[in-house]
Amino acid sequence: ETWEPPEPLHRVKGDNYAPNNPNSDRINATLLSLVRNKEAKDLVMSMQDLERTWNHKFNYPWTFINDEPFTQEFKDITRANTKANITYLTIPKEHWEVPSWINLDLMHESANILEEQSVQYAHMTSYHQMCRWNSGLFYKHPALQETQYYWRVEPNVHFFCDVDYDVFRYMQDHNKTYGFTISLYDSPDTVKTLWPETLKFLAAGNSHLMSQNNAMDWLVDKSARPEHNTKANGYSTCHFWSNFEIADMNFFRSPAYEAYFEHLDRAGGFFYERWGDAPVHSIALGLFEDKNKIHWFKDIGYQHIPFFNCPNSPKCHGCITGRLTDGEAFLNKEDCRPNWFKYVGNEWDIGKSSAVAG
Ligand code: GDP
Ligand code: MN
Repeated sequence: ETWEPPEPLHRVKGDNYAPNNPNSDRINATLLSLVRNKEAKDLVMSMQDLERTWNHKFNYPWTFINDEPFTQEFKDITRANTKANITYLTIPKEHWEVPSWINLDLMHESANILEEQSVQYAHMTSYHQMCRWNSGLFYKHPALQETQYYWRVEPNVHFFCDVDYDVFRYMQDHNKTYGFTISLYDSPDTVKTLWPETLKFLAAGNSHLMSQNNAMDWLVDKSARPEHNTKANGYSTCHFWSNFEIADMNFFRSPAYEAYFEHLDRAGGFFYERWGDAPVHSIALGLFEDKNKIHWFKDIGYQHIPFFNCPNSPKCHGCITGRLTDGEAFLNKEDCRPNWFKYVGNEWDIGKSSAVAG
């Protein structure tokens, strides 16, 4: 088996990735984390794993973002855990607050209904704000305007495998827009009107925005989970799990995505339902991007409770090969990667057969 994707892979040679080398081989990219002050310790766990397995070699800068100013304590503890540059940002108020067109009474009534359906975080307005911000606002922060690629990192995630090439350059050199590790079915009750709104958007003179090589058939697939597709009104609910993303912000800055987000934002489902940034990103990628520009980072061992991506590679330590979850057994059925491979193919299978042949 192969443990790395195909060449070209950009590696450390001499001081080409030294933290303060002004002519380093780093491209325009940052490790990006939306995080609260009280999550500092959990964030440090994620930082330590990512620094150990990858970033101590490449020294990409970290960017921390918060809806409140970061405390000195937060700055000190994060500063102590990397040699790379760090930027601390506060979100502009107008990017975070509940938009003026949202009816607060309707929002609270809707949360009651969601709660009856056992939707997590139904009444937590900040969670809805976070999902909206991650859907359509993060890349609009004034301090990120010159930044192209990001790797999203959450508090309390884990990385298990040594990665010995520059993943940002991989994205650029191989013409990739979006990289994921895990994809899952979503709770249909959180996105009941997301697909109908999407179809409305396309029907309102926007269908020309779709990619010639889109993944529509993946979005509407109902073979594995017909009941999800039915409850979500035509969307399979399969999505890239967005607590991990390595992606090109220019996709989100494109006129197609901009128009799509604007439509969804006006429709109000970030607050009247609980649309997640994961299904929103995934639907947009499936419609507006060439499906071959989406990459599965099989080689990046990753955990966000309760799911893992754990490759069978000698480069990985501390996770059990092939295991998706250490939670309840029923969670194994949440994996929808096979669905993606069915429609788009699995680049790693090609790697495997050529490795066998060669
Ligand atoms: P879950 O993984 O869906 O359970 O959601 P999380 O609680 O992990 O939130 C997702 C990400 O958004 C994490 O990086 C959190 O630190 C961050 N986050 C969530 N809510 C807030 C908030 O109100 N303020 C800030 N600054 N970050 C938040
Ligand atoms: Mn999380």
